[in-house]
Amino acid sequence: MDSENLDSLTLSQTLPLSQDTFRQLWENVVTSMPTETDHAEEEWRETEGPMQLLLMNDQVLTDGFDETLFNLPEMSTKDGVTPPASIVPVTSDYPGDYDFQLRFQKSGTAKSVTSTYSEQLNKLYCQLAKTNPIEVLVSRQPPLGAVIRATAVYKKTEHVAEVVRRCPHHQNEDRASAAETSSHLIRVEGSERAQYFEDPNTKRQSVTVPYEPPQLGSEMTTILLKFMCNSSCMGGMNRRPILTILTLETPEGHVLGRRSFEVRVCACPGRDRKTEEENSSKQQNGTKETKKRKSAPAPDSSSTKKPKAASGTDEEEKEVYVLHVHGKERYEMLKKINDGLELLDKESKAKAKVTMKHELPLPSSGKRLLVKGEKSDSD
Ligand SMILES: [Zn+2]
Repeated sequence: MDSENLDSLTLSQTLPLSQDTFRQLWENVVTSMPTETDHAEEEWRETEGPMQLLLMNDQVLTDGFDETLFNLPEMSTKDGVTPPASIVPVTSDYPGDYDFQLRFQKSGTAKSVTSTYSEQLNKLYCQLAKTNPIEVLVSRQPPLGAVIRATAVYKKTEHVAEVVRRCPHHQNEDRASAAETSSHLIRVEGSERAQYFEDPNTKRQSVTVPYEPPQLGSEMTTILLKFMCNSSCMGGMNRRPILTILTLETPEGHVLGRRSFEVRVCACPGRDRKTEEENSSKQQNGTKETKKRKSAPAPDSSSTKKPKAASGTDEEEKEVYVLHVHGKERYEMLKKINDGLELLDKESKAKAKVTMKHELPLPSSGKRLLVKGEKSDSD
């Protein structure tokens, strides 16, 4: 789909929502939507409810128009609230039949580097609008017309439903010269054939570039990506970490391979990479916690702890999440809810202890009996 079609698609959405309009829209869209049928998708397929509709697998495509598809955007995007279950791009690595691999240049952590990749953290550090050469390797020639697609997605679960876009400031700066792509975070450089997409349903943005076989004497193809906002941009990424997903796709959008890596766009890529790698090593040595780069959230007057759903594991419940809230009033309201939940937690724990004391005799050794679900001190 070229950008002209994209524009007309967006326009057609504003027409009265008769089925014919949708059918036309759908039939236009279908030809260009990605079809993902690889095994890595199975976990997503198992998801109940609207997620299933979003997989755009072959079955949906061959069956043609499915009226229920359009229930989701209608009910979930009201009032500009982030849809609770929007399409979440898959980020798991999938080399596929073509053994799709990425390689980054070894740039080190000198002060002057504008782009550097940490193997330890699978994270690319780069400066705003600077070129990042990424080498793409495949074990054999993909089908004719195959493309490489780059999509950005927020890394953390609490942000993943939100679409990654440039901040309003940077969008406005670009609007006059490149209206079409002004909101796109990821740009492809050095190819006239780069195409920019915005999914009409999810509004997620991506850019594709045709896969080109390696030049003679080379084993890999290099693509050049630029990131057009800082990770810290207010109203944009707003310090939320992102992943970039690169997929190798057939011309029909069928995914042949996928790789993802974290990206931080900042003023001092070398310094930040060094610091984060050191912190990560320290954490891994100092605790049995194996999660990478987890740092204690700084106390913040505009944030409040977000209570986890009851279904979370013990580990998840202990973790502290920071929630950024607009407006003092809303903050106070959410804080009240959180305080209430904390109090409930305390009370139920106290109750459990009281119950234990009443119903269970203390062991003669003087040790406290362990109640199911409670952790022993020595754990
Ligand atoms: Zn920005």
